[in-house]
Amino acid sequence: MSASTAAAIARSIREGQTTATEVVEAHLAEIERTDGDVRAFLEVLGGTALEQAKAVDAGEVTGPLAGVPIAIKDVLCMEGIATTCGSKILEGWRPPYTATAVRRLVEAGAIPIGKTNMDEFAMGSSTENSAFGPTLNPWSTGHVPGGSSGGSAAAVAAGHAPVSLGSDTGGSIRQPASLCGVVGMKPTYGRVSRYGLVAFASSLDQIGPFSHTVEDAAIVYAAMAGHDPMDSTSLPESVGDPVGAIGRGIEGIRFGVVTELAGDAIEPEVAAAFASAIEGLGAGEVSLPSFDHALSAYYLIAPAEASSNLARFDGVRYGLRIDAADTTAMMRRTREAGFGPEVKRRIMLGTYALSAGYYDAYYGQAQRVRTLVANDFGRAFEDFDILLSPTSPTTAFEIGERTADPLAMYLSDLCTIPANLAGIPAISIPAGVDSRGLPIGLQLMAPALEEERLFAAAAELETRIGFDAKPALTGGAE
Ligand code: GLN
Repeated sequence: MSASTAAAIARSIREGQTTATEVVEAHLAEIERTDGDVRAFLEVLGGTALEQAKAVDAGEVTGPLAGVPIAIKDVLCMEGIATTCGSKILEGWRPPYTATAVRRLVEAGAIPIGKTNMDEFAMGSSTENSAFGPTLNPWSTGHVPGGSSGGSAAAVAAGHAPVSLGSDTGGSIRQPASLCGVVGMKPTYGRVSRYGLVAFASSLDQIGPFSHTVEDAAIVYAAMAGHDPMDSTSLPESVGDPVGAIGRGIEGIRFGVVTELAGDAIEPEVAAAFASAIEGLGAGEVSLPSFDHALSAYYLIAPAEASSNLARFDGVRYGLRIDAADTTAMMRRTREAGFGPEVKRRIMLGTYALSAGYYDAYYGQAQRVRTLVANDFGRAFEDFDILLSPTSPTTAFEIGERTADPLAMYLSDLCTIPANLAGIPAISIPAGVDSRGLPIGLQLMAPALEEERLFAAAAELETRIGFDAKPALTGGAE
């Protein structure tokens, strides 16, 4: 099933060449065959998926995605279904409601086929920070799939689902998409409702799709985007016609390469693939000097917001509770046992950055850098319509290679973080493989609300690049 796109599956169900039940059964079989190799799923929703497929086959559910299986990152709430965020602290918690993004996709006919593995509370770049063990890269199971949405990226790359959902706070959709050879898109901040997305850093978090094609990314995005009164940062503007933008081409689009994201930090093979992918676009160069400080600013702002957001996991309201003599001791013991090392590090970093004596020197300074990054983008978009960079400085690294060195892990996000700080939309598309056969990704960035332009340009580049490599999974692992 790995070659099928959501668009093709929906069409063949509509035209009666196959049924939603057959499609779901085939994907469940594929998960059964090879998910032991990659461990993309925390829970497979076989029962409910088959029920939903029946409803599609009975004509009770229609819509652009009718019968299309979708894998859901386990940071998104689905009513009554365990949501762990890759953490032990949510053990046993079943949300009483469904995230708006998931609800809209289900209304469009999509069938959630499972909850996917992730770095705990979306903090990480390799999916090794999951309390339930790492997900492995379908292209080479000795390598990481990227993170934090590594399960959702691997599920699509492995053919377990044609499309999936992730969340992107500093690159957690685009970087794993790049490392797994699939498409991954982060919308403009506010385009997709965050209602039902467990918060990491609320001013940066966005939900977005993974897929094999830019068209599928646009279809999934279009089905879930748009205003939601349940999210106070949700934008009222019309979503327009992102699917119609596919095929519009790139005539008149001025491309710019961000020099700060294309320098020495980029591995030579990644740089070479990037250069060849953008050949013939007549791209100019643009220097955005504040980007040199974007990573540092992000690693103050995101932990600061996380330290506040994660205060709610205290043994009182959700999941795990380790009893103790008094409430304070109970909270301390619950948090000690429930959170993993990276989450603890972020909470401490963030609490420190927000503390009275250091607030201005750290958090305040980081916010000023954030403004400079947004201003730099603003200037660049006066001269260019789409900005380009590699998505990740390297291809997939080995399992365990960066776990002992948080700074090395944080550097994985070098190219993706600026778009989050400025709230603009960005997409990663496959641009080739390195000499070990590991995928390389290309990032396109557009001004806020210009998703149509982003999809049009990405679809044209996708055609020009013609990426058609596939991972070969043998199956058989436990
Ligand atoms: N890797 C980054 C981090 O650990 C980004 C995570 C994300 O986008 N959720 O913060």
